[in-house]
Amino acid sequence: MTNPERFKNITPSALPSRIEELGEPKFRAKQIFKWVYQKRVGSFGEMNNMPKTLRERLSGLFTLQKMEPLFIKESKFGDAVKFGFSLVESPHLVESVLLYDDDRRTACLSSQLGCALGCVFCQTGKMGFIRNLTQEEIIGQLIGINDYLMSKSDKLVTNIVFMGMGEALSNFRNFLSSLQIIMHEDAFNIGGRRITVSTAGVIPSIERLMEEELNIGLAISLNAFTNEQRDRLMPVNRKYPIESLVSIAKSYFNKTGRRVTFEYVLIEGETDSLEAADTLQRFLGGFPCKINLIPLNPSSDSVLRNTSDSNLERFSDQLHQRGLSATIRKSRGQDIWGACGQLSGRMIDR
Ligand code: SF4
Repeated sequence: MTNPERFKNITPSALPSRIEELGEPKFRAKQIFKWVYQKRVGSFGEMNNMPKTLRERLSGLFTLQKMEPLFIKESKFGDAVKFGFSLVESPHLVESVLLYDDDRRTACLSSQLGCALGCVFCQTGKMGFIRNLTQEEIIGQLIGINDYLMSKSDKLVTNIVFMGMGEALSNFRNFLSSLQIIMHEDAFNIGGRRITVSTAGVIPSIERLMEEELNIGLAISLNAFTNEQRDRLMPVNRKYPIESLVSIAKSYFNKTGRRVTFEYVLIEGETDSLEAADTLQRFLGGFPCKINLIPLNPSSDSVLRNTSDSNLERFSDQLHQRGLSATIRKSRGQDIWGACGQLSGRMIDR
């Protein structure tokens, strides 16, 4: 007997024809979608607006088994929750974070187990690359976070950022189909304005993303002001240097009308100098973009040091004086190791 197929790996574009192949009308696809992604049921038996025979047939063909959170850690500051989800047939777990910000509930999703890009300030990068997450494993995080939210109140995730473990644009196919589910009106129905993908700068994938016309936000992890420095901090820079990142960001803005965000980690003695502010002005002056200044979050074995609060303020002022739009991003989830650069999918002992 073959194992049932994992339903949540079926792409939204393939589902209607898969349902038709079973001799069922297409509208069933819509119904099933709502049950799986809006009501988040764990079995076909619960889909009580569909004939029993169909439910039984679907149960034999597909599985809706959920990814269970092995741990949920709530920050003592009440603004972040970290989840560790177990993966099907894998000894690893994948981590995701829920961030609260006024009325916004943002899910920070992971897209890969580990990461091949090896940025030196990132715990995920230190794991090396293990594998891409499947569509089900990406969407499963969102389902789990919505289950958690619904257990606390009747609220759901409002915003999505792909800033968890891995480089989403290096897992383009599964990232894209997950996005289609996130945006689908019968699934999570979250619009492009409320979704952002962060990238270390995988330019061919940014070009593909532009072709898809999904109009999601783009955040480029810049973190350095010279190529020599960025080569050291983010080895992907050897392939896609700063000048090409600025150029693709301009194309993205021209095509989508969305201001690109540059994320910039403040590292003491590395990226927080006056020279850095001057150079950023040369690269980004006159271009309608945003710069997010991010304090370096502690990692267990890094020799890099966070800049002081006063340096952070001073650097932000220097950027403003140079006409750049910069915001200091509050670091959340540090106490639960859920802040930027702190996620790592440890091995679990089953
Ligand atoms: S910062 Fe992002 S791209 Fe760099 S190693 Fe970490 S997960 Fe990969």
